[in-house]
Amino acid sequence: GNVPVGSHTCIFFNPVQEAAVEHRRRMEDDLRVAVATGELELYCQPIVDLRQGRVVGGEALLRWTHPQHGAVPPETFVPMAEQIGLIGEIGRWVLKEACRYIAHWRNVELDLYVSVNVSVRQIPDELAPGMVAKTLEQYGLPPQALAIEITESLLMNDVTIAQEWIASLRAMGLHIYMDDFGTGYSSLSYLKRFALDTVKIDRSFVRDMSADNSDFALVNAIITMAKSLGLGVVAEGIEDEQQFRLLRQSDCGFGQGNYFSRPVPMSQFNTIAMRINDELASYC
Ligand code: C2E
Ligand code: MG
Ligand code: MG
Ligand code: MG
Repeated sequence: GNVPVGSHTCIFFNPVQEAAVEHRRRMEDDLRVAVATGELELYCQPIVDLRQGRVVGGEALLRWTHPQHGAVPPETFVPMAEQIGLIGEIGRWVLKEACRYIAHWRNVELDLYVSVNVSVRQIPDELAPGMVAKTLEQYGLPPQALAIEITESLLMNDVTIAQEWIASLRAMGLHIYMDDFGTGYSSLSYLKRFALDTVKIDRSFVRDMSADNSDFALVNAIITMAKSLGLGVVAEGIEDEQQFRLLRQSDCGFGQGNYFSRPVPMSQFNTIAMRINDELASYC
């Protein structure tokens, strides 16, 4: 524990803590190597137009397979990357990689967009609107080919800066999604304050929707509210047919989840998208 001695603070670690600190330091070094040697991979999960039963785009999701420890979840290594100042470089790579694939799909006449998750530390220097514009231009893409997913915790950090950053991306024509909607502190005030155009209903609500009446009521309330504010809705974490059916009944515009497809490597995305379209053609 912390033992104050005079005006200084001495911190004693027990062996377990010490091992954890050492492990973390090693993982940070490994992450630096992973970024430098291109060990990170970009996956993509289809986003489906629930009314028409068609894949309209996908969410870009990072994957890191550690040479010794195997898959490290992004919830672990993204915050780590933020802390050691790597998230800017990673985010720019994600953006480029996403644009490269969107351009490739457009070459084979597939009009798909990609939404990219953005971290606290990337705003505004690391992912400046001018840089985003340049990247789009470099790949010959319209701004609608790209969406940005932001979380409420991100918005809380520095409200004015986030507000301006979002407004300029929105003015450029990018779509802005509020991720994990409903799990944060003051979702409703953010909807008013920020230039968002779509909310993503957090998967915790979708998960219990079929069994729990209050969660079904919440999902419907979010859909109704979004509609009256002129916002789009994406439901996250659709895992079975019943959830898909209920969301269609509730007139939820869009959805994603393992029911359609788990996240797949970018290189497989167009094939998966066409397969889903075929499968849903008979359903919708
Ligand atoms: P998120 O943005 O909310 O992403 C959705 C997460 O839900 C993904 O987890 C996805 O694999 C998972 N998911 C999708 N469908 C289902 C389903 O049907 N059932 C269940 N149980 N889970 C489903 P993932 O890929 O592990 O990513 C976790 C989080 O890490 C993301 O949450 C996002 O906040 C963050 N993240 C991922 N990639 C990036 C990135 O490139 N940059 C930043 N800043 N954060 C990222
Ligand atoms: Mg997301
Ligand atoms: Mg989410
Ligand atoms: Mg999440």
